[in-house]
Amino acid sequence: MFIVMVAAECAPVAKVGGLADVVFGLSREIEIRGHHVEIVLPKYDCMDYGQIWGLCVSYRDLWVPWFGGSVHCTVYFGFVHGRKCFFIEPHGSENFFNRGAFYGFADEPMRFAFFTKAALEFLFKSGKRPDVIHTHDWQTGLAPVLLYEIYKYHGMQDVRCCHTIHNFRHQGLSGQDVLFATGLGRPDYYMSPDRLRDDTHHASVNFTRAGIVYSNFVTTVSRHHAWEVRHTDFGNGLAHVLHVHQNKFGGIVNGLDYDYWNPDTDPWVARNYNASHLEPKYENKRALRERFWLRDGYKPIIAYVGRLDSQKGVHLIRHALYWALGNGCQFVLLGASPDGAIDHQFWELKRQLNDHPDCHLELRFDEHLAHLVYAGSDFVIVPSLYEPCGLTQLIGLRYGTVPIVRRVGGLADTVFDVAQYNGQGNGYSFDGIDPGSLESALVRAVGLWNHHPREFRKLIQTGMSQDFSWNRAGQDYVNIYEYIRHK
Ligand code: ADP
Repeated sequence: MFIVMVAAECAPVAKVGGLADVVFGLSREIEIRGHHVEIVLPKYDCMDYGQIWGLCVSYRDLWVPWFGGSVHCTVYFGFVHGRKCFFIEPHGSENFFNRGAFYGFADEPMRFAFFTKAALEFLFKSGKRPDVIHTHDWQTGLAPVLLYEIYKYHGMQDVRCCHTIHNFRHQGLSGQDVLFATGLGRPDYYMSPDRLRDDTHHASVNFTRAGIVYSNFVTTVSRHHAWEVRHTDFGNGLAHVLHVHQNKFGGIVNGLDYDYWNPDTDPWVARNYNASHLEPKYENKRALRERFWLRDGYKPIIAYVGRLDSQKGVHLIRHALYWALGNGCQFVLLGASPDGAIDHQFWELKRQLNDHPDCHLELRFDEHLAHLVYAGSDFVIVPSLYEPCGLTQLIGLRYGTVPIVRRVGGLADTVFDVAQYNGQGNGYSFDGIDPGSLESALVRAVGLWNHHPREFRKLIQTGMSQDFSWNRAGQDYVNIYEYIRHK
């Protein structure tokens, strides 16, 4: 099959969050399975150009219809760690992608509506006829609309569309002018409740809704989250339209890049190890203690690695810290906060606990240090209020660091509580958002570590031997592509 990914991000060249890792990891996995994959991205000025090999002009004069006129674009081609990527550079006066940042502008919906239109125009003009266009998140939600309402009538009638929603919080709302900009026009037709009209803001076009209504298949990033967005308010207003289209909607748990996250070859840990050669993990524990000035001793280390955002359950993270210190454990935290108030709280906490021999807070983003934290800790906590998929628990499992998680979204699909999954359990989970629920899991987890070391070791090995790589997710997506291709 020939698959084209259209997305706003791709790791490591244009990465803001997990979306970038999915686009890269999934593309590689699908290629491994013998399919041809090309990725279309905006040509941002702030990309990491050092990660692109052989950048050259691929299509010089692409004129993209826009607001009744057209915008001149150049399309570049380059390899990003083996992936074939096309980068669209518009030369219009809006300077859509030359602004020194990936996101954060007032005309965000227009920027990405333009990118989506340009991507389809590029496929059309360059004669590319993929079997499936796989689009990601709100930025590209208009792609299937353009495909089925415009490009289908220009020879692209056999192309199918799969749309993945990574985050329901951001849906892309725009005024109706976007319909005229992209050549769709006809607001009376598109602004109906069964097409693009937002269910709450009736004057707005909702890009994510567009992706749901018009795609041949829609996915989100875990099975449990697919349920949550239809049955709870995690769908942020899209539950109804997802119900209507439930026959073409499902959840696929993201994979983890097992080459990059591999304790056996990881250059950023103190000593490499694997499931059958676990002893060196304890040297990582020693190295982590040294790095964070923690005292040596017979105590488990509980870690938190991640953004300090309200989504992540900051009150539970704080509670876990105090619980750990009061119950003979050590606690380490590696996290940065985009939120000023939360940032301030944690700096204050750090100041209070600065000289504590069993606790360290590292309040910044440090990719390499994260590897040592995962390798050197005994437990990693993920008490999120909601979590579409989550990578932290998957990295924990891969590094023999037992996850303690709240049973939501992708956490519920990947962490199996030892109390429920006899022999196949790989961690601990709890349901409530109250401190007591978290504590019940902590007590059980630390109890096993303290009193049943042999059982604890088995638990580590069970987690390490489970497969959360892209292998399964890759095959699931290929099955979806095959399914929609023949519809
Ligand atoms: P989200 O995408 O909501 O931030 P995920 O669990 O999906 O959460 O992914 C978080 C990823 O970012 C993990 O790989 C985690 O290790 C990494 N990460 C988050 N904060 C930090 C930090 N301060 N330093 C290093 N890595 C971090």
